[in-house]
Amino acid sequence: MSQQQGPGFCTLAIHAGQEPDPATGAVVPPIYQVSTYKQDGIGGLRGGYEYSRSANPTRTALEECLAALEGGARGFAFASGLAGQDAVVRALTGPGDHVVVPTDAYGGTYRYVARVAGPQGLAHTAAAMSDLDAVRAAVRPGHTRLVWVETPSNPLLGIADIAALAELAHSAGALLVVDNTFATSYLQQPLALGADIVTHSTTKYAGGHSDVVGGAVVVAREVSGAAYADASERIAFHQNAIGAVAGPFDAWLVLRGLKTLAVRMERHCDNAERVAAFLAGHDAVAQVLYPGLSSHPGHPIAARQMRRFGGMVSFRLRRGEDAAVKAVATTRLWTLGESLGGVESLIEHPARMTHASVAGTALEVPADLVRLSVGIEDVEDLLADLGEALDIPG
Ligand SMILES: *Cc1c(COP(=O)(O)O)cnc(C)c1O
Repeated sequence: MSQQQGPGFCTLAIHAGQEPDPATGAVVPPIYQVSTYKQDGIGGLRGGYEYSRSANPTRTALEECLAALEGGARGFAFASGLAGQDAVVRALTGPGDHVVVPTDAYGGTYRYVARVAGPQGLAHTAAAMSDLDAVRAAVRPGHTRLVWVETPSNPLLGIADIAALAELAHSAGALLVVDNTFATSYLQQPLALGADIVTHSTTKYAGGHSDVVGGAVVVAREVSGAAYADASERIAFHQNAIGAVAGPFDAWLVLRGLKTLAVRMERHCDNAERVAAFLAGHDAVAQVLYPGLSSHPGHPIAARQMRRFGGMVSFRLRRGEDAAVKAVATTRLWTLGESLGGVESLIEHPARMTHASVAGTALEVPADLVRLSVGIEDVEDLLADLGEALDIPG
């Protein structure tokens, strides 16, 4: 992956947007739990703060840090990942426009595009993002405004070529939006690869401790095409006009999470590599989906555009759905639950849980699939618990 100029990732994570508090010297930005600000005469704002939907100092610190970590021009913090995605879609598309979405999109993203934006006039086509010809066929030049991609994808861990998709989108006059939630800004830098906008559910690895729901949007320094030159301004306008902003305490929790993102991701990757290798050698397992395995069809692209391969591992069981349901109900250390990216390991059955809302659509996932969010516990304990659950006769 490309190296950024200036301070390194870990330095930015701890310092970007986070000068010691000018009033007290506090080394961590305080939680400015406040809605309004005294004006020194009408319009005499101190530091530009007027009302906390428009801006709040704790949120500003987070937004500057998010932008720095992605190498973007401007960052925005939202109340959830989906709230951020909503602002992107509303800011950059209108009735009669078209977007291309992944066949294995996050279920909530697909539900938003199909059932919220769709009835308001936005058309969409689902395409396999790992197949450039399929994406090319799905794009409608002149109508497609956004090509939306998740890589690695959820829950199938598909890999898409960000640089190639950026070129394809731009040649059709569209922008490339990358949902970087699974990879994180530490493992993957989509803007450096040509993407225009990055989104995150900061609920996941960015927050990292399963204690906050949040979202982020970062816009590139140069957004492709005259029609979008003001993408940052449009998103800023919609963030304030819709108002789904991150509150001060939530912004503070995400900011704290980001400080340790790099060290956490290294351990998530260490453990996930061990878990993937263990599953690949297990009799009950039909297939392991992990981009770090050389058997993964997207491995060469992932190796090119990611620092390491992340903490998410999915696998399919030979004995089918019943075995998958039994496995997720049997582990003790791996907690049965939705979400991902926290320090604790989670296990789930996508077809009945996170992806139940896409049953019967092109995005339906296999019923024998189990998804793991590999945490940072001692890996021997994780392997022992998983092994016991898989050894139970089905
Ligand atoms: C969780 C998630 C979202 C949605 O984010 P929320 O914070 O739950 O609104 C979007 N994309 C991906 C890849 C996710 O995992």
